[in-house]
Amino acid sequence: MGNFEFKKKFGQNFLSDKNLLEKIVNKAEVSEEDIVLEIGAGAGALTEVLSAHAKKVISFEIDKDLIEHLSEKFDGTNVELHFDDIMKIDDEKINNIVGGRFKLVANLPYYVTSPIITRFLQNENLVSLSVMVQEEVADRIIAQPQTKDYGVLTVICNLFGCPEKVLRVDRKMFYPVPNVDSAVIKIDKRENSVYENSDGLISFVKNAFAMRRKKISSNLETNKISKSEIEQELKNLGLSESARAEELSLDKFIKLYQVFSDKNK
Ligand code: SAM
Repeated sequence: MGNFEFKKKFGQNFLSDKNLLEKIVNKAEVSEEDIVLEIGAGAGALTEVLSAHAKKVISFEIDKDLIEHLSEKFDGTNVELHFDDIMKIDDEKINNIVGGRFKLVANLPYYVTSPIITRFLQNENLVSLSVMVQEEVADRIIAQPQTKDYGVLTVICNLFGCPEKVLRVDRKMFYPVPNVDSAVIKIDKRENSVYENSDGLISFVKNAFAMRRKKISSNLETNKISKSEIEQELKNLGLSESARAEELSLDKFIKLYQVFSDKNK
């Protein structure tokens, strides 16, 4: 790696401990039939362990300073490298590159955690997602309704899959050492998670939580559905008319969204 300079703007905190890397790949349940998509190869430590367990690894890396090191390290292996910003490659292109069902495994750059999780959960070829995130984000993902951690990311992750916190990772395991601990979240995609309009559903969830302290009826009223109609729907769902978004279980979110999309047709 020569005189590699770590770039904070790319969320570069690398792993090197072999035991930990094996544990991550094990928790992700990667086997030799699997195609794995990795976001952020870094120095290639996780990529190397993935490569030993998977059929093929497709790894994206934004930092061009890593081209030489990674290209040499993985020359002639089952690792296919793409030196691109994953956020700039559209889903169709990703699906063409990957060429079928895949598992996403990554030590994610913290600044794109939520957009990456939200986006890939909607990909019809995704089997599961196992990603290292800041522990505080992991706790939000697995939160229960009526708690302060329960929010947009919790509902989105549960709409598309079954999230589990599978490993806690101390900050000292990374270089450079970040300010917070991390955790690996595994989300197995639900079989029945294809929604008619998943973008609409996601915006609905985001709007419902837009101002957490406000009643859901105030956050969601539009020119097509009034506050009192929403209050009535909340009562039909067995909730108080002054309910806030954090009180709605996943089931109730889906039911309320159904009413909304029917009214907005
Ligand atoms: N996988 C390595 C490891 O575990 O040691 C590196 C993980 S590091 C937390 C995140 C990596 O993602 C960095 O190498 C960074 O350059 C890369 N990265 C950041 N933003 C990216 C993007 N938009 N597209 C592709 N890679 C990105």
